[in-house]
Amino acid sequence: MAREKQKDTSFEGKVVLVTGAAGGIGRAAAVAFGRAGACVVVADTSVDGGHATAAMIVENGGKALFVQCNVTRAAEVEALVDKTVAYYGKLDCAFNNAGIEEEHLPLADADEALFDRIMNVNVKGTWLCMKYEIRQMLKQGSGSIVNTASVAGLVGAPTQPIYAASKHAVVGMTKTAAAEYAREGIRINSVCPGVVNTPMMGRALEREPLREKKLRNVHPMGRFAEPVEIANAAMWLCSEQSSFVTGHQLAVDGGLTAI
Ligand code: NAD
Repeated sequence: MAREKQKDTSFEGKVVLVTGAAGGIGRAAAVAFGRAGACVVVADTSVDGGHATAAMIVENGGKALFVQCNVTRAAEVEALVDKTVAYYGKLDCAFNNAGIEEEHLPLADADEALFDRIMNVNVKGTWLCMKYEIRQMLKQGSGSIVNTASVAGLVGAPTQPIYAASKHAVVGMTKTAAAEYAREGIRINSVCPGVVNTPMMGRALEREPLREKKLRNVHPMGRFAEPVEIANAAMWLCSEQSSFVTGHQLAVDGGLTAI
């Protein structure tokens, strides 16, 4: 007789906040945290997508709260952390994953508005999230934060110079904050995905369908990641299993940055 799969309870009693959780990597992570027993706060600008993610968690027997939040606005991010604490009593882990990628242009062809838009969400948004999460975690004396950077935060990304700059900035903030708060019981790391099969990737391939084969082949594994593969890495970094890991950039890239 097949043995029943044991229920994952690794995040039982933990409160986990996930931004950009209305779709893609964020949704996969929110659902996975919920399955592992966490109380999940689903944050996104998209109301429909956010509610849908929260519903998926609840359908799987988990606990979830959706909070609409634009991570570029300080007051909304502060309110997000306040609501998390008011509803669930604390904040153990945060996966700062909201991000945008709208660019397929060499550096000299991009305009100022695009630069500001990408930096605003990817850099300012990540900074604001960390700022208010860390203030809460300092009160508790513990916490674990994971930011979504990218392989474009580790190496150059031709036709995505602004995105690459924004993700290198996420890596810089992650390393610096990790050092600043290491003795306060707060660990801060990043995941650096290769290309992942999400709505973001779908939009990029719609713009340039001929890039698909080339993009697959930049990964030695010859394929894109599935969102859950990035979620699994973020969960490990959030968990006690990585208790001596901080300031680390975990490439989840099918070998892309190995060559
Ligand atoms: P996605 O577009 O599928 O999902 C991103 C989510 O973020 C959306 O639900 C969107 O509504 C939300 N969001 C955007 N701006 C926001 C804001 N200002 N405030 C709150 N929420 C906001 O993208 P994805 O592929 O799941 O990407 C998630 C993260 O992973 C991003 O940071 C992205 O840069 C990074 N990443 C993606 C890939 C990839 O190939 N898909 C590769 C490397 C890194």
